[in-house]
This record gives sequence, C-alpha cells and structure tokens, in this order.
Amino acid sequence: MTQKPAPLETVHVGGFNTVRADRTELAKWMTAYCFAARGGEIPPAILFSSNGQGLALQGKNADYDAAMAAADVIHADGMPVVFASRVLTKKGIRGRSATTDLFHDVAREAVANGLKFYVLGAKEDQNQRATEAMQRLYPGLQVVGRRNGYFGPDNDAEVCANIVASGADVLWVALGKPKQEIWCHRNRDRLTGIGCIKTCGGLYAFLAGDVARAPDWMQSLGLEWLFRLLGDPKRLFKRYLVTNMQALWMLATQTGSGKPVGENAI
Ligand code: UDP
Repeated sequence: MTQKPAPLETVHVGGFNTVRADRTELAKWMTAYCFAARGGEIPPAILFSSNGQGLALQGKNADYDAAMAAADVIHADGMPVVFASRVLTKKGIRGRSATTDLFHDVAREAVANGLKFYVLGAKEDQNQRATEAMQRLYPGLQVVGRRNGYFGPDNDAEVCANIVASGADVLWVALGKPKQEIWCHRNRDRLTGIGCIKTCGGLYAFLAGDVARAPDWMQSLGLEWLFRLLGDPKRLFKRYLVTNMQALWMLATQTGSGKPVGENAI
C-alpha cells in the first residue's frame, strides 16, 4: 500500500481549522491520498470548503458541526478566509482554493495519474451536461459514474454501493450546504475504497455553463459573492447579506487566537 500523505498544516480561521495549502498542493495531496486509499485499508478522506455560507452555518445544525469537525481537509473556498488568515494570524493561507478552480487542478492530476471520478449531485440534466463538459475539457479523464442528487436517506446504501462498485477514486458531491457535508460524513463508512470525497456545491452549474464565474478582478478582491448576488438576487439576497455579516463576525472573532468553536477548533 502507498503511504498515506501527512495531514496538511492548518490555521484556525473563522472557527474552522483551515489548511494553509494552495490549490496545487491540495490537488497533489488528494492524488497521494487516493493512491493510499486504493484497496480500502484506510477510510476515504472527506474534504470540505470554508466560505461565507459555511462559516455562518456554524452552531446552527449539530449534524453540520459534527461533519465539519470530522473533515480531513477544510480549505479556503472564499477569498475573505484567505484575507483573515493573513491579517489576523502569522500563518497565512498560501492561496485561495475555490472549489470551482480546484476542480481543474484535480482533473489535470487525474488525467496524469489515472484517477477516476464519480459525479454525484444536482439535477439530472445539469449533472449529465457537467459530466460531458468534464470529458470534453479533459480528454482521457475517466468519469466512471454519475448520479443526480435527488434521492432520500433510504437510498444512501444503494447509492454508495454503486459508487464503490464504479471503482472511483474521487467522489464529487454537490447537494448544497449543509446537506452535502452531512451526507459525506454520514456515508463515509459506506464508501471504503474511494480516495477523496469532495463537496462541490454549485460546481456543476459552472461546468455545464448555466452560471458564469465572476471576472478575475472581482474574485481577487473577494467579491465573487457580489457577482453571484447581482445575477440571482431573489435566491441569494438573504444568503449573502445576512450570512456575510455572520461570516465576518466569525472571521473577526474566531481566527487565530479567537475562542475555539466546536471540536474542530484548535
Ligand atoms: N442539490 C441536490 N440535491 C438536493 C439539494 C440540492 O442535488 O437535495 C443540488 C442543487 O441542484 C445544486 C447543488 O445542490 O446543483 C448546489 O446547490 P446550491 O446552488 O445551493 O450550491 P451553492 O450555491 O452552495 O454552491
């Protein structure tokens, strides 16, 4: 069996122990973990992201808190998480790792190393178009299975059995927060042999071309949320304007030497 990679170094940001690794480092860690997990001697790694919505959700849903506490990796999906780590601690995060960007680093690693993907979540049509886009963007990428995200807990065992039977190394899970984190945590033990289970929220909408990314200048200023808000104000107004205040509070009070929250805190 290949050696399991060492845990990634973390910094406490907004209540979460967040990895300092950038996208490239994360993709390499995921590849190494996938090789170590083949054969099923170690459990799959679960990898979640830290962004405004996720920061604000803390303390409101015990299952979500437990899932976040059990994560092998929490990475900086949102630029404000990176800013807070750099301004408020001496252990700045080396680079933002938005899942929508990280996906491409992992896909390149997958093609180079023969890693297989399973694409779980979103509506059937979007799931199918996102899967086709992956294969178009990365010729040679092995997508060994896909399934939409509309099934109940009674189907979990069957869904997981199919994923394991596919021989996937990386399982992408887009069920929206906090459902996706809770689902990954609850089903990890059924997914032996999978290397990395990575939540990916709205990734398939971007890949399918249903939603556009913010311009680079907005991303680098940490304003991707504003771009998304302007594009879909009805759905996102509450999420961003209410949760952003809560997230900023968490970043300001629970970073570095801030008072630890939950088990995941230092
Ligand atoms: N979703 C799903 N099953 C559910 C609920 C949501 O597959 O039971 C999918 C939904 O179709 C969407 C994805 O979860 O494609 C992410 O939802 P959201 O747009 O909230 O993601 P975010 O904006 O958080 O990235």
